[in-house]
Amino acid sequence: MPGPAAPGPASPSGTRPASVPRDVLGLLAPAAGGPAFDEHRPPPAELVADCVHCGFCLPTCPTYVLWGEEMDSPRGRIHLMRQGLEGEPLTDSMVGHFDACLGCMACVTACPSGVRYDTLIENTRQQVERRHTRPARERALRAAIFALFPYPKRLRMLRGPLRAYQASGLRRLVARTGLLPRLAPTLATLESLAPRLTRAPKPPDRVPAYGPRRAVVGMLTGCVQSAFFPGVNAATARVLAAEGCEVVINPARQGCCGALSVHNGREKEAQEFARHLLDAFADTGIDYFVVNAAGCGSSLKEYGELLRDDPRYADRAAAFAARVRDLSELLVELGPVARRHPLPVSVAYHDACHLGHAQGIRTQPRELLRAIPDLELREIADPELCCGSAGVWNVLNPEPAARLGERKARDVLGTGAQLLVTANPGCLMQIAAAIPRLGGSTEPRPAGSGGIALAHTAQVLDASIRRLPVDRLLS
Ligand code: SF4
Ligand code: SF4
Repeated sequence: MPGPAAPGPASPSGTRPASVPRDVLGLLAPAAGGPAFDEHRPPPAELVADCVHCGFCLPTCPTYVLWGEEMDSPRGRIHLMRQGLEGEPLTDSMVGHFDACLGCMACVTACPSGVRYDTLIENTRQQVERRHTRPARERALRAAIFALFPYPKRLRMLRGPLRAYQASGLRRLVARTGLLPRLAPTLATLESLAPRLTRAPKPPDRVPAYGPRRAVVGMLTGCVQSAFFPGVNAATARVLAAEGCEVVINPARQGCCGALSVHNGREKEAQEFARHLLDAFADTGIDYFVVNAAGCGSSLKEYGELLRDDPRYADRAAAFAARVRDLSELLVELGPVARRHPLPVSVAYHDACHLGHAQGIRTQPRELLRAIPDLELREIADPELCCGSAGVWNVLNPEPAARLGERKARDVLGTGAQLLVTANPGCLMQIAAAIPRLGGSTEPRPAGSGGIALAHTAQVLDASIRRLPVDRLLS
């Protein structure tokens, strides 16, 4: 491997997924078939060439931190892409290393040479999905995941049985036996990730601006967000309205934005979802399109790229993408008009990777939180390291995801804050699932007793603007 050796990980831990054979030297077993990549959007050779092998990205890469393997680092994966471009076949081993990447983009932030690893891995994943046949069991698991998660109506149908399961006390019983993780790790992961469900009233089509209207804003309801965190969407709409935005929701017309598909190389599926969303908001006269889920926001900002070869949608997609804003981004851009009331609470803010690394949004949420009187903001150690959620990575790779989740949860609890705040439903579920494994709790508890409550940034702002008692956030 060219280039100076990078420092090894501080403490490698966890088990590599079975699908990732050890390949320290990158000596990949030859496979039948032609070169790894076809001509439809291969990883661009000029971007691969930008990597100077310095290794600065290695300590921020969660898979390198876990396993200490060069081929599970950004530099190693770029090396594999170069091999593919030089005509090497797409081997199981190569695919394993690409699949093991969380797509967290910490390496993009860390790279002093500006290597566009985001474009590289996205193009590579599309090639893998088209040109590689996975083992039958993995194909079945992926088929099940992609038949469920990008469909909010199907997810909402799970709410009833899930609420009944949670209310029955079965959840505690299942946890006590400890059998589920041993018998069915994927199911155990899904079970542990499911948040405590509350009522989910249907969002209105439109919410009028409070006071003089400053903007008309479309709002994404999302898949997991709408099914499992309806309170976050309701808070988002209220905050926007309080800040003078008329909010266009059109919940019946919305579907998935395609983020999950695009992050997993399912290009055509992602394009279909994108076209559908563009049609749902055509002629609504929106000035901005607001997103409160980090992974969705980063994909929506790339719609122009996703549909660039579609003559009917390319221009519309690019124009739409230019209007996309994360909630915190838009609120800072507009400036506050709604009065903030005191919230005496200590908050640990977690940078979701697709907000911090992929969109470069770190200061805005902090600025909004600091503007709330009596709120004390605390920083979490190693903020650049992913919590292990990464879309459906934690479902596909439950064991290493659990290790990353526990590492993040330990750092979160280490702040001693009463409330963990972040802007992504996946992170909330991942960290909430890890805290009890460390003996902590996300249930209401006295301060200092190893517990921490969780909330989205929108819910904190909403509580402050509406002058709610802080207990509403902590219970
Ligand atoms: S995206 Fe994240 S997991 Fe993938 S190579 Fe970069 S830092 Fe590592
Ligand atoms: S991706 Fe960037 S930081 Fe990582 S080895 Fe290449 S040039 Fe260095």
